[in-house]
Amino acid sequence: MQASGDPSPDSGRTVGVLLSGGLDSSILLGDMLFHGQRVQPFYIRSGLVWQREEMAALAQFLRAMAAPRLAELVVLDLPLDDLYGEHWSVTGRAVPDGASPDDAVYLPGRNALLVIKAALWCQTRGIGELALGVLGSSPFDDARSPFFENLEAALNCPPAAPIRLTRPLAELDKRGVMELGRDLPLEWTFSCIAPVDGLHCGACNKCAERMTAFRSINARDPTRYSADGKR
Ligand SMILES: [Zn+2]
Repeated sequence: MQASGDPSPDSGRTVGVLLSGGLDSSILLGDMLFHGQRVQPFYIRSGLVWQREEMAALAQFLRAMAAPRLAELVVLDLPLDDLYGEHWSVTGRAVPDGASPDDAVYLPGRNALLVIKAALWCQTRGIGELALGVLGSSPFDDARSPFFENLEAALNCPPAAPIRLTRPLAELDKRGVMELGRDLPLEWTFSCIAPVDGLHCGACNKCAERMTAFRSINARDPTRYSADGKR
């Protein structure tokens, strides 16, 4: 399990990958390319407060990873402000801080919403697998096997083209994923849910998780955090 060095032979098969611009899905993409996979990347644009920074980082990451096996990013729109209303992910107010528990950053229906458009894109264009960078250590019910098995079954109802939903990182915790991706250009990933002037705030739940992630593998954190860390 590594993401650097001589890549494997081309697998000849294309797999869709959902990207958020964060560490896990970016590392998944790098690892799949390394292992010879042809990859069709997706980003779902939902209008949440960190979208601009996330998309900017993702564009840089994909540029850094450019390879014949990497298709052009497909951006799909799925606005959520009408659904989430006054939620902190839309308003940017009362965002869970660095002392909040992991489950404070749950976004209702997140994985179902992300999967549905990308999976249908794949099914209507002959791609039979959509991979997600979901970790086994995720605290959320919609990141576990029963959820994905049921969603996959629904998507595969005839006459829809068959599709598999895969979670290649499901056996790993955050530290394991960081080890996998330690040689990737992770400075071009974005995790913050309360960006300040285009930078990571350094004070929110996700920034705290990001700092811990780099510390867990004794790697230098290349992230530029906002100097004031205020939100
Ligand atoms: Zn932050």
